[in-house]
Amino acid sequence: MSSQSSLSDRFKRSSQSIQTPSNHSMFKGHHATVGCPVCHRIMVPRVITYSGQPTKSICPFCGATFARFPSGFQKLLSRFQGPRLTTVILNKLFIITLSFSFLWLVSDQISASGQLSLIAFFGVVLFGTTLLAEILFQSIEYLAERFSHDSKHYWALIVMLSITTMYLRDDMTGYIGVFFLVVILRGLIVGTIQLLSSSR
Ligand SMILES: [Zn+2]
Repeated sequence: MSSQSSLSDRFKRSSQSIQTPSNHSMFKGHHATVGCPVCHRIMVPRVITYSGQPTKSICPFCGATFARFPSGFQKLLSRFQGPRLTTVILNKLFIITLSFSFLWLVSDQISASGQLSLIAFFGVVLFGTTLLAEILFQSIEYLAERFSHDSKHYWALIVMLSITTMYLRDDMTGYIGVFFLVVILRGLIVGTIQLLSSSR
């Protein structure tokens, strides 16, 4: 607060005729000024360019770097690197499937009735197919990002291919139906896992 008043004082001293206070209040609401992290003075960062490309912005008082801008080359590199597979959800699904498989294996020893083994079996099937669907989903997202496409186009293509296949081959309808059920199931289960992990 004290630095701000000293700055406006200096403005008044150097240029008495210019209405600096109104000028200052005009910028206040728009956050045109920032505090320098080094000298703590209120300033407007100056942009440093190199061959027409902004490289960084600095404090006009002390020269401290305020922000660095990625160069065109860095932007190009990050485009080629692309995102990696999101393994957080995959790991969770894998662990859940593995625990159900383990439960299925030992269910005969725990209880004589087949109920536990039936629950474990459904758990393995449910989370196992979700795991496979998630791998497929991540692969499509990865491919779309890799070639800078919108993944919606990939899904539209899959839906179109499925509809065409259903018209041409009646016996494939059941499999395609199961495939879309699995995709919807994956959305529900992954959504639930994400909701549970974010609320914690
Ligand atoms: Zn500074």
